[in-house]
Amino acid sequence: MVITIPIPDLKKPPALKFPERCVNCGKSKDETLGITLNMGVQKRDQPVTMQLTVPMCSACAKKERSVAKVTLVPFLVAGLVVGLVAFVPATLISPEGTTPQTLGFPFVFGGFVGMITGVIAGSVVEFFTKILAAPFYGKLLTRRPLTIFGFFAESDELVGISAKFLRKAKTVRLEFENEEIAREFTQLNHLEN
Ligand SMILES: [Zn+2]
Repeated sequence: MVITIPIPDLKKPPALKFPERCVNCGKSKDETLGITLNMGVQKRDQPVTMQLTVPMCSACAKKERSVAKVTLVPFLVAGLVVGLVAFVPATLISPEGTTPQTLGFPFVFGGFVGMITGVIAGSVVEFFTKILAAPFYGKLLTRRPLTIFGFFAESDELVGISAKFLRKAKTVRLEFENEEIAREFTQLNHLEN
């Protein structure tokens, strides 16, 4: 379930309340995890952020902390292995440098080819790992940006919830895995949806 929250004044983002139970499975709350969305504006020389304090049960929080196993880790491992495998032949077929300055060229070329191939292969493996892991981590897992795009993404995810700030539209888009929690959240914050 997707909920959009208008932010008319970016310098004063609303403080949103969550139901006092796990956002993912609805069991009683054991801890909270945070999501920070940057509003892209400044107030008194400080960047304005919107903080979401998300209640979680300990099992789901543990899941969230282990999510790298199905995102970052497959990306790095597959990327490294394939990158190395590509590095060797690329180095061998690369033209030899003839002057002292270009002697290292095969290694530069091999490194470049290895890196590109590694990033692509790592992302492909990560993509399929996520699909396979979705029954355990929830379908929102597949919406998480791939590691390689994660650095540029303006969204933030936890198990059970995905938050995205749409700057032009001045809205925050929240997606919940759990419909019941989403409805409670809407009521708690007097949102219409
Ligand atoms: Zn839970």
